Amino acid sequence: MDIQFLGAAREVTGSCFLVRCGERQLLIDCGLIQGAAADEARNRAAFAFDPRAIDAVILTHAHLDHSGRLPLLVKAGFRGPVYTHRATRDLCQIMLKDAASLNEKDAEHENRRRLRRGKRPVEPLYTRTDAEKAMRQFQALDYGQERELLPGVRVRLQDAGHILGSAIVELWLTENGHRRKLVFSGDLGHAGAPILRNPESVREADLVVMESTYGDREHRSWDETLTELGEVFREARQSQGNILIPAFAIGRSQELLYFLKHHNREWGIDHWTVFLDSPMAIEATEVYGKHWKLFDAEAHRRRKKDGDPFAMPNLHFSRTPTQSMAINRVRGGAIIIAGSGMCDGGRIRHHLKHNLWREQCHVIFAGFQARGTLGRKIVDGAKTVKLWSETIRVGARIHTVGGLSAHAGQSGLLEWYRNFSSRPTVALVHGETEPMQTLAQYLEALRAPVLMPKPGERLNLLSSHSEIR
Ligand code: ZN
Repeated sequence: MDIQFLGAAREVTGSCFLVRCGERQLLIDCGLIQGAAADEARNRAAFAFDPRAIDAVILTHAHLDHSGRLPLLVKAGFRGPVYTHRATRDLCQIMLKDAASLNEKDAEHENRRRLRRGKRPVEPLYTRTDAEKAMRQFQALDYGQERELLPGVRVRLQDAGHILGSAIVELWLTENGHRRKLVFSGDLGHAGAPILRNPESVREADLVVMESTYGDREHRSWDETLTELGEVFREARQSQGNILIPAFAIGRSQELLYFLKHHNREWGIDHWTVFLDSPMAIEATEVYGKHWKLFDAEAHRRRKKDGDPFAMPNLHFSRTPTQSMAINRVRGGAIIIAGSGMCDGGRIRHHLKHNLWREQCHVIFAGFQARGTLGRKIVDGAKTVKLWSETIRVGARIHTVGGLSAHAGQSGLLEWYRNFSSRPTVALVHGETEPMQTLAQYLEALRAPVLMPKPGERLNLLSSHSEIR
């Protein structure tokens, strides 16, 4: 019985853990490596195991850095079930399809260049057909339901509060009469976040595999964040331009709509026309609406009182490119929410081209901007940016609202760990070195045995040397 840390070991993306129990092999997550081109090239490498020998996959949530290599796994011969929460299945339908069409477009673009140079064409990482095939292997679970997946392997998902359907995975393993319980945190949500419940606490574990994304940082309080957002909207109204909000399609876009609806009067949102300019965000909003039973108490209350928590009379969904292009003619009074969240692609780039140089306009960055992205350049104060080889002056007011995070901050992570009744060994994953090591120090101060597995490291779950009871 062992676990091998194949992805998100000493890095953030590419989550993938292989659990062996007797003859059985189980994968927890099968995520895409994201970041610089050199990192992303690793997605094309063969898996470190035989995909045909994997009996099942358990998927914590729909984000691509957890789910994005599933179509490749299926392409490489995996035929077993992918167990996940039913909302995650619905969101993956959107995410994987979108990732696949981006792959196809990237390959097409690259091949036009290669053709001109007399080079051989490349294949897309995977296609929409591959994504559809993978989707057919999904099997939906609910939170709190314990289930035997394979002989000697039982599982239960608990709400992780990170995005809709996100799960903490409890895994009970039995091999030759030896029992071990593993708990995977998945990505843990930010307590107090709108719409979703707070991460569920778990009491028992022999080994905890825990994310450490914000292991060295706290988020601003929700009150401060909302006050800040409100001020930006009020200020923007006086300048009479447009407001652009680059946002991730899943999670952040729904949170923004939820806030805009709730603070409609207070923030003067009713004086604006709001555009959700992203087919993917629109679909995701529909999936959120469909799974309203997963909402937290506050969202339940608002839904009962005011109906659909994402609907406003002044909100327009723009699905087609024509609808999106029509927004380019609007000179003032529009709040435009569009992807991608870091401005590296998607419709937001067109809106930036039409608005970024105008002093009356405002851009609100409400999500993390990774190094090297266009969003990061703007946030860092670039005077001009390049869009389709055209130089655009940054004339608009740039605002960064940092408190909206889908991840637990340092105290949230520590608190979640503290809920275990003993001090189980914890393996830190899904973090850069700095946050992971800082979190490790805090955990050790709680007398937790902490591991920071290297990529590919294998940990025997039965050995007497390990700290596991
Ligand atoms: Zn995530």
